[in-house]
Amino acid sequence: MVDLGVEAPSSLNVTEMTDWLDTVAAKLAAAVSDVMGDMVNEAFNAAAASPVATAASVSAVSSSWSTYVTSNLAPTLAVLFSQAGQIGFGRIDTPLVDVWGIELGRLGLVHADQRAVLLNRIGRDMSALVRAQTAGYGSLDLGVEVPGGAVEAIHRFARTRGESVGWMEAYTAGSRGVITGQRVMGPAGAVEKEWIAVMDSRTRPTHSMADSQTVLIGEQFQVGVSMMDGPHDPSAPSNEVMGCRCQLRYLYPGDRRRDGTTVARPTHHDV
Ligand SMILES: [Zn+2]
Repeated sequence: MVDLGVEAPSSLNVTEMTDWLDTVAAKLAAAVSDVMGDMVNEAFNAAAASPVATAASVSAVSSSWSTYVTSNLAPTLAVLFSQAGQIGFGRIDTPLVDVWGIELGRLGLVHADQRAVLLNRIGRDMSALVRAQTAGYGSLDLGVEVPGGAVEAIHRFARTRGESVGWMEAYTAGSRGVITGQRVMGPAGAVEKEWIAVMDSRTRPTHSMADSQTVLIGEQFQVGVSMMDGPHDPSAPSNEVMGCRCQLRYLYPGDRRRDGTTVARPTHHDV
């Protein structure tokens, strides 16, 4: 498990959620960046030093990465997901909280399993990268040496890749966890959700346009040409999720929408 060491906020307040996810994402990004950088560096140096060792070193990247995913990263994401989902439980005092917590824990494991499949692909990409970059080296006896700059460049590349992977996974687990928590609460959960974009120069136009869009909790937002359940919806194209810092505001019966109207109590079930 990666120690994220940050306590989750006690409410779904958008600012608190943003601060929390930013902090958690920065911690996970740093941890994954270190791991990815070390793995690739080690394999690159070993592969470059000996042609015999090349094949083994190259496949070591993929296998050590998948061990890291299974034993560290995926369990961390499962916990983060379930922790995020529980933030919304504080709204209501009910013994059902225990049941919701168990269900959320199970869904956190499902989330982590699904992400692990995607994450393992990154290990294979990194293996292929090391293989390509070390081709032609690893022949010290022939006097071919790896240029110093190449080692640094690939290390930097691996660290940057690890950083974006950690950041993205933290945001995905956090965002998906929160909305899943609301659904697990059933009729006690939010009725509507509002897309909140961080409005600055880095915000992509499709997300600025999605800002303040309010839909029922089970409906999808129109984001550019895509329909999205919320920020970091894994079914959305990668250009709509990469680096996204958007949040959702959850609305309950009696809450005011931005247009001044009030969210009604749903009539199809007893709350
Ligand atoms: Zn966004």
